[in-house]
Amino acid sequence: MSSFRKDPFGEAWVLMSPERGLQPSDFGSASHPPGTSPLVPGRERGLPGEIQALRASSSQANAPDWRARVLPMPGTPFSQRPFRESSAGLYVSGTASGYQELIVEHPDPAMTLEAMPREHMSDLLRLYRDRLAFLAERPGVRHVQLTRNVGRAAGALYDHPHAQVLALPVTNRWVEEEAASASAHHREHGRCLFCDVVSAETASRERVVTSNASFVAIAPWASKTPFETWILPREHQSAFSSLASNRLEALGDILQTVLHAFGVALDHPPYNMILHTRPTPSDATYHWHIEMLPRLTRQAGFDWGSGYYVNPTPPEDAARFLREAAALAEVAS
Ligand SMILES: [Zn+2]
Ligand SMILES: [Zn+2]
Repeated sequence: MSSFRKDPFGEAWVLMSPERGLQPSDFGSASHPPGTSPLVPGRERGLPGEIQALRASSSQANAPDWRARVLPMPGTPFSQRPFRESSAGLYVSGTASGYQELIVEHPDPAMTLEAMPREHMSDLLRLYRDRLAFLAERPGVRHVQLTRNVGRAAGALYDHPHAQVLALPVTNRWVEEEAASASAHHREHGRCLFCDVVSAETASRERVVTSNASFVAIAPWASKTPFETWILPREHQSAFSSLASNRLEALGDILQTVLHAFGVALDHPPYNMILHTRPTPSDATYHWHIEMLPRLTRQAGFDWGSGYYVNPTPPEDAARFLREAAALAEVAS
């Protein structure tokens, strides 16, 4: 049976999941040959029952005629048993409780996020927001996240456009590390670190990829991998679940611009899109953002064997390259 173990040397919680065995799909390669997506309309019955869907009001649950669907992740190791943490001597473990959901983002298996019509994009972002808000309120949930893995090299389980939502009773080490730096900055200066970064970057523009009235996309100062791009709201907001409905279009626009720029500059690379957020909107020091990480095989940043990253593309160059690519994509469309 799966369970969490807490790393006694740090903030990491590791899921031990022996029943999942050594399935290739557990190690990040899509298990379905192209053209055989199990997520297309007409194949609903082979999947877990849907939790929520955007579908024609005349249609029935778990039947075709939908625009997007939310299901429990097939084969998820998480269950809704109450979370219990226990320690024995040096070691802490916990129940593998939590929620893992699959959002099927479009009926067409060949659709991409950047090609989605504006209205569909806004509906999808609203669906992300509403799932995260709902799951954040479940008892015991301490962390929520949304990830999109696109392309097999990025660990996608399906070629079909999809996102994964996780809501867990344990914290996430990367968010905790950001939050620790941000609260230290807040204690010293009385301001949000992310807000200060947004101000500094929009003033200098050197690392700005693109921006609009509500959001800015930057290549971060210490980008760990080439063309790493963060999208941040200009206004302070700690939880994605409090994103106002009238900001959905602007967020969809900036996401699509960044992806068009990746497409032109990097030839449609595999990528990971990771939403970092607090579950609930009560944190003056944390600021939600989306990290976009293209997976470039030839020019990949790498961990230097000991926790140091080597990035061959400085973010100033990456931002300039992506700005030019975004302008080209604009002309072409
Ligand atoms: Zn802020
Ligand atoms: Zn982050």
